[in-house]
Amino acid sequence: MYPPSLERLLHELEKLPGIGPRTAQRLAFHLLKQPADFSRTLASALVEARSKLHPCRDCFNLTEETLCRICSMGTRDHTSLLVVEDPSDVAAFERTHEYHGLYHVLGGTLSPLEGRGPQDLTLDALVSRVKKEPAVKEVIVATDPTVEGDSTALYIQQLLKALPAKVTRLARGLPSGGDVEYVDEVTLLKALEGRREL
Ligand SMILES: [Zn+2]
Repeated sequence: MYPPSLERLLHELEKLPGIGPRTAQRLAFHLLKQPADFSRTLASALVEARSKLHPCRDCFNLTEETLCRICSMGTRDHTSLLVVEDPSDVAAFERTHEYHGLYHVLGGTLSPLEGRGPQDLTLDALVSRVKKEPAVKEVIVATDPTVEGDSTALYIQQLLKALPAKVTRLARGLPSGGDVEYVDEVTLLKALEGRREL
């Protein structure tokens, strides 16, 4: 229906999360209406970000250095680890300005349906981090309030059971089935304050 280069652009856009054929079309036509420079700048920003960013050595947050900004701050509280699914969740908690501990980014949740098992997440690294760092007193699991997020939280609790650190879960009150990343700061802070032991 479209010229091959446009078909290809649509095909690539449709691979993005939440982008169906109609949205892909809208985005493609919008992009093509812009000056040629816009496409070049967008494409080079993507290529640059993809090549410069990698997981932080300690927490798996995205960084251009060996350690992310949070891990390299001397002022963070090393007694608490907040376990989140993605780097975007780190940003959500940082926006509350009330969490001063460290993070651990899992890289998703366990999902048998989507073929994601424990080996696909940074769970081994989490266990060795908690073992190696006797300062960690509490591991707060802040996965999304979904079936997968809840089962991942229970799995983590089992993994860490033999270790002295306490494992807690964010309070209910987050919209069930929702996404931590999109929750407003006040709700997120309440869920953090109301956390309970697993
Ligand atoms: Zn880090």
